[in-house]
Amino acid sequence: MKYALLLLALVSNLAIADQCQSDKLSIHKNFAMGRFNTCEVSAAGHYRLTLKPENLPINPSPWYALRLESSQAQQIELELLVEHGKPRYLPKVSVDKQHWQPVDYQIDGSSMHIQLALPKGTLWLAGQEIMDDEDYQQWQQQLEAKGLESIVLGQSVQGKPIEGLISRADSQDWLIMIGRQHPPEITGAMAMTHFVDEVMEESAQAMALRKRFNVLLVPNMNPDGVHAGNWRHNVGGVDLNRDWFSRAQPETQAVHSYLQKILADGGKIRFALDFHSTHRDVFYTMPTDYGLTPPELVDNWLAQLAEAIKPYPVNIKPGHNKDRGVFKQYIADTYGVHAVTYEVGDNTDRQDIANVARAAAQQLMDVLKTLP
Ligand SMILES: [Zn+2]
Repeated sequence: MKYALLLLALVSNLAIADQCQSDKLSIHKNFAMGRFNTCEVSAAGHYRLTLKPENLPINPSPWYALRLESSQAQQIELELLVEHGKPRYLPKVSVDKQHWQPVDYQIDGSSMHIQLALPKGTLWLAGQEIMDDEDYQQWQQQLEAKGLESIVLGQSVQGKPIEGLISRADSQDWLIMIGRQHPPEITGAMAMTHFVDEVMEESAQAMALRKRFNVLLVPNMNPDGVHAGNWRHNVGGVDLNRDWFSRAQPETQAVHSYLQKILADGGKIRFALDFHSTHRDVFYTMPTDYGLTPPELVDNWLAQLAEAIKPYPVNIKPGHNKDRGVFKQYIADTYGVHAVTYEVGDNTDRQDIANVARAAAQQLMDVLKTLP
């Protein structure tokens, strides 16, 4: 009887585990951004994976990323079962973790069903393209080659560096750009790379901008959450974009301290951007009459952008909420200047993301040069 119970315990452990492993197929999450919770074989060739948030309550954005190792070409069905939310990110596959293609799926309530034709070898499947610390390091090296200076602003909860890049000007004026407060928001991260690349071009416009303004970039505000494949929070279980006034987390403290140091050294924060993703492209702005300097900066920027990219839509949502702890509000209330939350749709065409971000950077540079 004892042995039977032990055997039963062993079998149930094997049936629902944190990975699936058999002769023909194993499913892993031991890589940066890798994420699912449990995996079980629900029928021959059918695998059920659960997706759970890091903690509750949470604004649900069920992230998943898995690596499938197959000993032969085979057809399988995956079910991704979301706990606490509905599927948000549409499945994509890659054989090299760099180039991704969408795959067919069906959504049925909290479950997503995916039929997969597995090649022999490795296939990655994830909710968006994977953009991890290694990708940031590569991009950072390109920016360093263009003369940007790397700095460490502080440490994350798990002791990872909060890295910044600075383009120095002969002035006291600063532009601030941050990204990846929310780990799965890859389209916003893509927009940030294109936007920054345009600002760092060798064009006359970009060189004039960099002569006039210091630029501080913090591309990955939440390195622990990104590594863990978190849905939204840092590993302290906090939504960083609700923490900018209380600054209970080391990630927000690190950036705040650096901005305070800029002020202490006589610098002025003139404008800030924060890159995110949501279900559609939208710019969350501070209201024109909020009392920021100069009041019409963002109105002018986005009107010029709309003209430059028409008929592509530019959606603008002004608003403010003193109590929420959002970065743009923190910038407005602490430094008296405009900040914008630059949101990109989860499913926005990737070439459109690049085109709009490049145009947005050009039009912003055009407007900023008129600042007194
Ligand atoms: Zn976000």
